[in-house]
Amino acid sequence: MRAQVLQRIAPIEDGPLQYSSSVEDPKVGPHDVLIKIKACGVCHSNLHMIEGEFRVFGVPSKLPIIPGHEITGVVAETGADVEKWHVGDRVGVQVLYEACGTCEFCLTGREQLCVNKKVTGETVDGGYAELIAVPSDFVYAVPENLHAEEAAPLFCPGVTAYRAVKRADVRMGNKVIVLGVGGVGHMSLQFAKLAGAEVVAVDRSPGALELARDLGADVVIPPAELDEHVSKYGKPDVIFVHAPAQPAIDQAFKSIKRGGTVLMAVLGKISVVFPEEYSVVTSVIGTRSDMLETLKLAAMGKVKVKAKSFPLSEASLILERLKRGEIAGRAVLVP
Ligand SMILES: [Zn+2]
Ligand SMILES: [Zn+2]
Repeated sequence: MRAQVLQRIAPIEDGPLQYSSSVEDPKVGPHDVLIKIKACGVCHSNLHMIEGEFRVFGVPSKLPIIPGHEITGVVAETGADVEKWHVGDRVGVQVLYEACGTCEFCLTGREQLCVNKKVTGETVDGGYAELIAVPSDFVYAVPENLHAEEAAPLFCPGVTAYRAVKRADVRMGNKVIVLGVGGVGHMSLQFAKLAGAEVVAVDRSPGALELARDLGADVVIPPAELDEHVSKYGKPDVIFVHAPAQPAIDQAFKSIKRGGTVLMAVLGKISVVFPEEYSVVTSVIGTRSDMLETLKLAAMGKVKVKAKSFPLSEASLILERLKRGEIAGRAVLVP
């Protein structure tokens, strides 16, 4: 099959990702389904892995590896013991490739924290490819009314934003600021609206602000105007930090209301906030039930994905553009 294969850890401009037409097809175990991939989203965390920022977490756990973890496609083959899925079913794969089902976290409904979990495109081969084999219990039906390319980002930014809004405990009437309207940010602003919040979206890019307004943000402003906005209209109850930049994190802790919550969805240093009370919450992808709820809300039209498609062969180029902050919403690779 054809695939984008990460050969070594290096800046994306140095060409560590190689497009190959002679990658061995994945092996299909008795409990697996083989998926013919129709789309795979390009995530900032793919870039973090490629450039070595995840090495401290032991990611990638193997090289070479095929990145990519927000996947939609069609079932092409089923393992001998698979009953639930059939050839031709439209399905998706999220970041959580498999959980053990027996550890403390799996047994308490927090399987995304599983100590033995496998992660799509980070510990096992992912979706920058034509095919992927996935355990059948970790495959989800793609709603009929969603196109494969618009559905793919639901499997990482969608479920991540859904769980983050729950974790941050956004309530009706809350004021919420979303810093960074990229892949996850454009989804969390919609889930925060669904939860009944007033949403202020902040981004450097005019295109991202336009997108935020289209998706229902009440106020859209560039970062330079945030201080003035807060002093004029009041501090927010919740801030989502989706912009992977230290100034955004510092801004969040400067702007949050006493008793409020900062949801950190990026890597960075947290400044000291004593002597007031604040909550700092992190969140990591979502469980299978979070995933199903995310898909249901998308099928109902309650949240919309902004996806733009590119050929799989252009993965490196797209990752470079993502690095420069030039992608509004989500870029999706099509084999
Ligand atoms: Zn992702
Ligand atoms: Zn487990």
